[in-house]
Order: sequence, then structure tokens, then C-alpha cells
Amino acid sequence: MPILNKESPFEGQTYICSWRKQRTGYEIFLESNPSLRAHSPSWFEAEEELLNLICKENGDGEAKIVYLPPRPDGEFELKYGFPALYTISGIRAEPDIVTANLFVNGLCYKCGNPMGPRNSSILSIKNTGIKTDCCFVVIGRTFIYLFSESLLNLLIGRHWKKMNFNSVVMSGKRKDAQLYELVGKPECEFVGCSFLKHSGWECAECGSSGFGYYESNLEINKFVAYADLPNPLSQYFTVGDSNTIKICVTGKTWLSLIRPSVFKGLSGNRLGVVSDDELIRKPQLLLR
Ligand SMILES: [Zn+2]
Repeated sequence: MPILNKESPFEGQTYICSWRKQRTGYEIFLESNPSLRAHSPSWFEAEEELLNLICKENGDGEAKIVYLPPRPDGEFELKYGFPALYTISGIRAEPDIVTANLFVNGLCYKCGNPMGPRNSSILSIKNTGIKTDCCFVVIGRTFIYLFSESLLNLLIGRHWKKMNFNSVVMSGKRKDAQLYELVGKPECEFVGCSFLKHSGWECAECGSSGFGYYESNLEINKFVAYADLPNPLSQYFTVGDSNTIKICVTGKTWLSLIRPSVFKGLSGNRLGVVSDDELIRKPQLLLR
């Protein structure tokens, strides 16, 4: 079955899907194999059904779907999805991590989050099997995002090398494409939304924390503040928290990246935008 990153041996591959609004609900189907299709009055149920079909056909129980055109906005996305923003994540890669310590003061023994900022060590990995244009590796509980040169060239232009990207040393039996690690402090921090119930916790040992919004059927799990967005809005910027930094792009840029089907393993998450009246900089979190 043709998929974006068909050479990757990993689960969690990206599948481009299309959809149609019908009188009785939504029909969703795989672009590369339209015989895999699901129909339901609710978008959520149709997507669940299609994910089950992909799992049966491909054995991929962690499939990621990218919709072309983007899925229709529900009431929630109309309220919190403007301007349309997407964070780029890609596929989880599980290489051997060679670098011993990537963070000042190391990782918290209790929660696995970094005890300080990223140090100057270069990330060195081997036996990646990575053949995608973006992916992430997990160290402790931190996600580190890696991008190919061709993706950064298109997204940012030639001056990306002057920005917050470190070369990754890659070794192993097979020569994989060179990747670059996004480092630094995010331009926009994730924030809370008073309208929704958050999930998250704070480490009683090191004080690091994380939260998101995972009520069922929501396309949006993370928010930034409208007041924090670059003005004028740039086609890409960085978002995250004290543990993670991600690239965020506008809806228009997101479409320009996924439409040509040039880049392998590209997946993204819709990001919510919250206005001042519903903004909570940091929700009250349970200590654990
Ligand atoms: Zn901790």
C-alpha cells in the first residue's frame, strides 16, 4: 500500500486520507487505496473505523492520518482554531542514543524530565533506520524533534542554518539522511484554557510539568495564547514548554508541505489559540 514513508519499519506511519461530506455523515478513505474507506454520521467514529481498517490491512496500530483537504472544522475548532496552526511532529524513531547526557544537570530520576536546559553536546544516534524528513526521539520523557535539510530548506529557506538547529551525528550500518535537531527556547509557550478540563501533573522532585487537553473527539490538545503569536503572523515559529520545542506552521504552510507528497513521515497536530479572557498561563496541576 503506498504510504508516505513506506520504507520505515516502524508503526505510527502517516497515511494521507481524503473525505466527503454526505447526507448521512462523513466518508473517509485512504488516497492511495480508496477501497479502505469508512462511513459514519460522526467524524470521530468514521476515523476510528478507518484506523481499524488500516490496522487490519497494514498491521499498523498507531497510524497517523493527514487529511487532504484538512478535516472540516467543528464548532470547537471554529472557536479555538483561528488562526489555523499546526505543530510538526513526524514519526517516533527509536535509534540507539550514543550521547550520554544532553541536558544541564541530567534527567530527573523521578519523572525523567530534564533538570536544566539542553547543553551543548551534539546528539549522536546510530542504527536509526530513519528514512523520513521529520521524526522525534524520546529521551527520558522529553521529545526531541529532528528534520531533514530538504524540509528545512523549503520551510525556512537557506538561512535556517543560522537558527536553532544542531547537526545530528548519525552512524550505523546503513547511511541515513542527515537530520538536524531543533534546539532552544520556544517563542510561544503552551498555555491553558479555562473552558476545558486539563490533564497533567507536576513533578514533586524537580518541579517540571506538562499538561494538555484530551477530551474525546477534540482535534486540538495543546494551546498557545493569541497575545503571544508573532505579529505579523509568520509562516513558521516555535512553540513548546520547558521540556520540548516544536516547529509550528500556519494552515496555509502546512498544506504547502503535505500537498506535494514529497516529504516522508510528515505528520502534524492542530494547535489551539486561546484569547485573553479564557487564558490560564499555567493550570493548577497535581503534584506526583
Ligand atoms: Zn522530576
